[in-house]
This record gives sequence, structure tokens and C-alpha cells, in this order.
Amino acid sequence: MLIYNTLTKRKEEFIPINPPKVTMYMCGPTVYDYFHIGNARSFIMADIVRRYLQFKGFQVKLVINITDVDDKIIKKSNDEKKPAEEIAGFYSQAFFEDLERLKVKPADFYPKATLHLAEMIEVIKELESKGIAYNIDGNVFYDVSKFDTYGKLSGKNLDELEAGARVDVNEKKKNPLDFSLWKRAKEGEMCWDSPWGIGRPGWHIECSAMSTKHLGRSIDIHAGGNDLIFPHHENEIAQSEAAFEQKFVRYWMHFGFLNIQNEKMSKSLGNFFTARDVQQKYSAEAIRLFFAQTNYGGPLNFSDELLGAAQKGTEKIINFAERLEEEITKESSGNFYPNFDVKKFFGEFEKVMDDDFNTPQAVALIFDFIRSANKIISENDNIQKEFYLELKSFLKKTAEDILGIVHLDELKKPPMFFLENDLINLLINIRENLKKEKNYTMADLIRNKLHEMGIILQDSKTGTTFKRK
Ligand code: AMP
Ligand code: ZN
Repeated sequence: MLIYNTLTKRKEEFIPINPPKVTMYMCGPTVYDYFHIGNARSFIMADIVRRYLQFKGFQVKLVINITDVDDKIIKKSNDEKKPAEEIAGFYSQAFFEDLERLKVKPADFYPKATLHLAEMIEVIKELESKGIAYNIDGNVFYDVSKFDTYGKLSGKNLDELEAGARVDVNEKKKNPLDFSLWKRAKEGEMCWDSPWGIGRPGWHIECSAMSTKHLGRSIDIHAGGNDLIFPHHENEIAQSEAAFEQKFVRYWMHFGFLNIQNEKMSKSLGNFFTARDVQQKYSAEAIRLFFAQTNYGGPLNFSDELLGAAQKGTEKIINFAERLEEEITKESSGNFYPNFDVKKFFGEFEKVMDDDFNTPQAVALIFDFIRSANKIISENDNIQKEFYLELKSFLKKTAEDILGIVHLDELKKPPMFFLENDLINLLINIRENLKKEKNYTMADLIRNKLHEMGIILQDSKTGTTFKRK
């Protein structure tokens, strides 16, 4: 298996430290707001990577941190006049809910920064004792000039960086590139006691401390969006490798930005849609398909048109799955087993996914599989049930278990397109009231118009349900 490593800038054979175990750390959200669909891209692609590694037989331990102490949380807490803990608690809960709705499998652990102060302080003390961290009036900084290979991940060199760095006049530090490990408390902020006085940790030290605590000093994969390469991940390397004197991460994986009109979607630019909002219109499967159709590392433009196309794509998969299900649940079985090489498709799927998780090709292969299988089914009578079961097993392992772009147990369940379903149900209620008032003309109009849109109403003693044509 090959994985593109940001550190070496090439695809490398994936060899974990202790196979079949794999340790994976992903930088999680700063919980001050709902996450946007750009964040969702990173979480979904990491989910696919993790699921594929599991399919390959690795025992993956995935840790995603929750940054629950940060300038942005403090600002929101001041703006809304609510304790920072309340803001962080509320949006952490929303984070878990949104991941679940996007069918992202839960990580093994979600450590919170505020519960790891002791660990962070330990790492800072270690750096201080080695002369790499220095304290100025209760603010502790990392001295980047003491770490020879600073810049190795982002490919930047110190001179260039220094020339470009802006110096904040309020910060008394030796070098403009030196970054905060510990910040002295300001009035009204969350704070903790430490050997340097009351204060709070810098953002970068959180990840060094939490990944070490939960996954060890050297980990196999560290993931995050492209925006984190510099300075966040560069600083994590500087902290962890200087403190523990061993290689911090074997494979650095970075997810490309989700852009909107070629600009990064971000909260600060205000050009974002929350994952929740997007899910009002598109199913989790369609959103996942939309992301899987592009290589995880490159940029991707958000557009309604592309999401709409992905939604149609998932409907094709559902139709195929329903066709299989119909045959599988029939009482009788034919006796003809078509000559169709499902194993070959499996082999191809694994080959493209082994090549740095080439999900666009994997998706193309699944659609190719559906097309070819549909043709065989249409051209032949009397097909054996085992054949349909074999087709289903391919779909289950690839499209469901690994990519999560269909859920075979939920085909018949309605909550696929939340808003649309709600609106149809609303019309059904209105129609029922119209019938009670004997306004059959309007009631029939609703039925017929929905029928034209491909929604079929089914009346029964217990009420009216609908299905899609
Ligand atoms: P944040 O809450 O902004 O710290 O981001 C959480 C995760 O989402 C990080 O791994 C980010 O790198 C990633 N991320 C942020 N914006 C985008 C975007 N527009 N496209 C893809 N990933 C993003
Ligand atoms: Zn991090």
C-alpha cells in the first residue's frame, strides 16, 4: 500500500511501527461553532482512510482531539456572555451529532484539551529543561533556532520565514518565529496553575501532548487539513521531536481544501455552509460520494450542481441495490450462474485504493460494476440467487463498508432527504385535512402533482405513506 507523505513529498510504502496495529491522530475541531462542509471533507476522507486500513486487516486506533480552550472560544464566550465551558460543551455535542449524521464512524477516543493540562505542562517542562523553551513574564515560548530541522514538513527555511514573519509588538520574544507554549492569563479567561504562573496552553502543545498520551511518542499517521501543515504541524514536530528525541510521525496526510468559488471555505471569510445545512438538502451518502469523487489531497469546489449530481449517483446505487434485494428475497431461485468476474472488480478496487486511496477511481469502478451487472441481469433469465448475493457482497464491502456511499439496511427507510421528506409529509397531512373537509378536488390535485414528480402516495387504513417511483 502506498501513502503520500507530506514530509517526504512522495508516495511511500505503508509500513506501520507495530503491524497489524496502526496509530492514527487527526486534528479535530475547535468547538466554538457548528462545523462547515469544508471541515466535513477532512473528517469524511479520514474516515474512509481508516475504514480502508481496517479492511486491509490493520487494527487502527484513531484519536481525534477536541480543542476546547482557544481564543475563538473565549471570544464567543465574551460575546454571548456564557461560560467558555458551556460554549465548548454545546458545540462538542453538535460535532458528535454531525459526524453521526454524516455516517462517520466514531474515533476510538476524543481527548479534550482541558483534561490534559498536566500532560502539556510536562512536555513544556521537558523543553524548558533542555533549553528549548524560555519564559518571559509567565509567557513561555519555543525557541525555533534550537531545532535544526524546523521547516522540514512545510518545506520552508528559517531565513525566508523570518523575513515574512510579522512581529506583534506586545510579544516579547527572541525571534518572531518563536511560538507560544504557555500564555499568561488575561482577565476573565479560562486559566490553570503552572510552574510559570497562571495561564493557558498554546494550541500546538495540545496535540503533541494528547497524541503522545493516547498513542505513544511515535505514531503511524497524523492527519489534518492542508491549512494545518504550517505552522501547526511544523510546530508539533518541533515540540515532540525535541522533547522525546524520536521520530514523531511516520506518515503525514493532508486533505485538500474545499473551496467556494476557488477560495478556501472558512469561518473567518464567512463563505461557508454548515454541514447541518447542507444535509437538509443532500443525504450523507451523496455528500460522501461528492468528496470521494475527488482525490483527497487536491482542491475541490463546492457547488450545488456537483452535489446534485452526486445525489443522483447515490440514487443509481440505491436502485441497483433494490433490484438485487428484490431478487434475493424472492422465494424461488433460478439455476443459471452468469459468467461475470466479481473477483476481478474486487482486485481492481483494492489496486486503486492501495495506490494512496484513489477514491475517484474506486467510485468509477463501482459505477462500472453496476452498469455491467445491470446489463447481465437484463440480458439473462433464470439467474441463481447466489449470483445476486455475490453482487451484493461486492457492493456491501466497497460502497458501504469502505466508502459509506450507500447503506443497504436503510434502503427502504425514508429519512434520506430530510427536508424533502418533511415537505412531502406536510402535503400528506394537508391532503388528509382536505379529504375530511370533502375538498376532493384539492386532495386529488396534491396526489396527482406529487405523482408527476415521481412521488407515489399509498393510502391504507392506518394512514398515507409515500414511495419514490
Ligand atoms: P478547525 O475547526 O477550523 O480547526 O478545522 C477542523 C479540521 O477541518 C482541520 O483538520 C482543518 O484542517 C480542516 N479544514 C478546515 N477548513 C477546511 C476546508 N475548507 N476544506 C477542508 N478541510 C478544512
Ligand atoms: Zn493538531
